[in-house]
Amino acid sequence: MTIECDVLVVGAGPAGSSAAWAAAKGGAKTIFIDKKKEVGVPVQCAEGIGSYLISHLPFKMPKDQLLWKIDGISFNVDDITIERKGGMWSGYAINREKFDKWLADNAVKAGAKLLLDTELIDVETREGYHVSTVRVKTNNVETEIKPKVVIAADGVDSTVLNLLGFEVDLEKTGYVYSFELSGVKVNSNLDYMFFGDFAPGGYGYIFPLSNNRANVGVAALFKKDSIKEFYDNFLELPEVNNLLGGENLIIKEKEGLVPFLPQTEKWHYGNILFVGDAANQNLKPFVEGFLPGILCGDIAGQSAAEYAVHGKGLESYVKTIEEKCKNFFEYSDVLTKILYETGKKTEKTYHLIRVGIVSDLFSLEELNHLKTLDYSILKKIILKRYKKQ
Ligand SMILES: Cc1cc2nc3c(=O)[nH]c(=O)nc-3n(C[C@H](O)[C@H](O)[C@H](O)COP(=O)(O)OP(=O)(O)OC[C@H]3O[C@@H](n4cnc5c(N)ncnc54)[C@H](O)[C@@H]3O)c2cc1C
Repeated sequence: MTIECDVLVVGAGPAGSSAAWAAAKGGAKTIFIDKKKEVGVPVQCAEGIGSYLISHLPFKMPKDQLLWKIDGISFNVDDITIERKGGMWSGYAINREKFDKWLADNAVKAGAKLLLDTELIDVETREGYHVSTVRVKTNNVETEIKPKVVIAADGVDSTVLNLLGFEVDLEKTGYVYSFELSGVKVNSNLDYMFFGDFAPGGYGYIFPLSNNRANVGVAALFKKDSIKEFYDNFLELPEVNNLLGGENLIIKEKEGLVPFLPQTEKWHYGNILFVGDAANQNLKPFVEGFLPGILCGDIAGQSAAEYAVHGKGLESYVKTIEEKCKNFFEYSDVLTKILYETGKKTEKTYHLIRVGIVSDLFSLEELNHLKTLDYSILKKIILKRYKKQ
């Protein structure tokens, strides 16, 4: 069987669903597929979103999607605690399963056709990465789809990237090992992040979801095969034990890969637009990809519809992101390089440097100088600057 469409979106995560929603609203015959049987399941997320991005969204944020208010972040290293509140530090906890389903439902209501349990298995391309046909498989039945545009929103280990020969390099990704726990003692409107020897180069986090539940996990860029050990070490930290209370039930596993370094140089090849985690549109240091994926997905969907329906160029995709999201991505890109480089260093001084950078007490320009200082001096500088604010 062969189906023709204007826009084929691969992946019904936040980036894919918002792309499908925008493409359908733009009048394009849109199909979006996902290999999962159910949208949003399993959740692979710590479910934190930053307030600063909400006003940029292409829809009014439904209040019932915002579960728990987050006033700021508590950064912890050794005996140092730095609390940052308001502005870019504030946000909300969301329920990803519910939110992902809401996005996909809206795309369907706008006229996009959703095919679940449907996996992209092959692409045929003409010269210049121009996809002519893709093959998908549903319940062992193969179907051919001939789209005018493909939006690759298929996540960090993108099948589209792999099929086009870019071969996703897992060394450029991080891994987050995470659980939703109930019975947690912390009843707080702060997210907690910990840095230290328990996870060299990485961090641990407690992101409250309610007065007694939280997503708790450890993220690592290097030594990913030791991540379970890092998580166990994290739970043994006395401060973490105090916050969790020690009598916790695992509600759900929510682990997964996160993009870190870019896999490709561009977001647009031929008639293919890469979006979301597949395009590393994921803001560092907190690997925040949910709202950025929605923002960029919406732009991809609009550009794809304008191309397919009105014959306009697909170049508007990258151009519009550069106009609308330049500030977020530019800062994130610089930070990415620094965190990747310092993440390889396991010395105690580097834990302090990373905390100083992510809590905005150290500027990126002074990094080379900071690297020459010893632990006690760095600690004094951090505490002095924190006190001053
Ligand atoms: C443990 C963890 C914690 C995180 N915490 C946060 C956080 O607190 N806040 C935040 O903003 N971000 C967080 N992130 C990142 C965030 O989850 C991602 O950035 C976001 O989900 C990216 O959206 P996406 O639509 O690009 O990709 P995804 O959500 O990964 O969706 C891709 C979809 O494509 C489908 N797919 C893949 N291959 C195929 C194929 N061949 N055929 C058909 N379908 C396919 C997949 O099934 C999937 O549904 C976290 C990530 C992890 C792993």
